[in-house]
Amino acid sequence: MSNLSGSPRNPAMLETRQIRKRYRSGNTMLEVLRGVDFRLDPGGFVAVVGQSGSGKSTLLHLMGLLDAPDAGEVWLDGQRIDSLPARERDRLRNTAIGMVFQAYHLLPELTALENVLTPLLIRHGFSDWFRRRRAARQEAEELLDRFGLSGRLQHRPRQLSGGEMQRVAIARALITHPRVLLADEPTGNLDEESGAGIIDALSELNREKGLSIVLVTHDADIASQARSIVRLTAGKVETVATDPAGSAA
Ligand code: ADP
Ligand code: MG
Repeated sequence: MSNLSGSPRNPAMLETRQIRKRYRSGNTMLEVLRGVDFRLDPGGFVAVVGQSGSGKSTLLHLMGLLDAPDAGEVWLDGQRIDSLPARERDRLRNTAIGMVFQAYHLLPELTALENVLTPLLIRHGFSDWFRRRRAARQEAEELLDRFGLSGRLQHRPRQLSGGEMQRVAIARALITHPRVLLADEPTGNLDEESGAGIIDALSELNREKGLSIVLVTHDADIASQARSIVRLTAGKVETVATDPAGSAA
C-alpha cells in the first residue's frame, strides 16, 4: 500500500503549528512548549515520548482543546480549531476528538454501560436521548463486547480491574465516532499484561478501523507499537522513528 504520510499536500488529521505554552510558577515563567510542530496523518498512529515534565500532557491537552496555547495554531482535518468559539470547541470535543487518560476518569456511581453512554447523553440532552436510547445502548454494548467486556455491562468501576476500567474508558471515547483518539499514558496505572492488552486494542483500532491515534507514553516498548515516534525535548518535538515495528507496511 502506498503511504503518502509526510506529504505536505495531504491535510493532516491533527496538526500543531508553532505551539507555545508557558506556565507561571511564583515569579518565574516555565516555558514548556517552545514552538511545537506536530503532525498526525489520517489513519496515523504516533507515539509521543519524553521525560516526565517535558510537556507531553500539555501538548495533548492543547490538541484536545482542554486548554489554549499562548501562541501557535491547532488544526483538525483542514480546519483551525484552537481559535473557534467555546461552543464550537465543546462540540468538537464531544464529536471529533476522543480522549483517554491514565486515571480512567469513570463516574463511580454509573455502570460500565452507563459510563460509555455519557457522551451521548451530554450531546443529545434528555428528551432527544429518550428517542435514541435503544440504538445508543446497542452500540455501547457492541463496543464493550469488542473489548471483551460483554459480561461486565452492569459492573460499576470499583468492581472492575484497571485494565477493564481503561477498556470502558476507551469505549466511552469511541461512542461518539471521533476522528482522532488522544491517549495520555493509558497504560500508566496498569501491570504489563493489562497494558499490553490496551495497546493491542489501540493498534487494532488503528489498523482495522483506520482510527488516527496519538499515544503519549514514557515507555519505549509501548511506543514501538505505534507507526511513528516523536520525542519532546526542550520544548520541541523531533521524529525519532518511523514505522518502528514494521507495522505501516
Ligand atoms: P509530562 O506530561 O511530559 O510529564 P506536563 O505536560 O504534565 O509534562 O508538564 C510539563 C511541565 O509543566 C511540568 O514541569 C509541570 O510541572 C508544568 N505544568 C503543567 N501544568 C501546569 C500548570 N497548570 N501550572 C503550572 N505548571 C504546570
Ligand atoms: Mg503527563
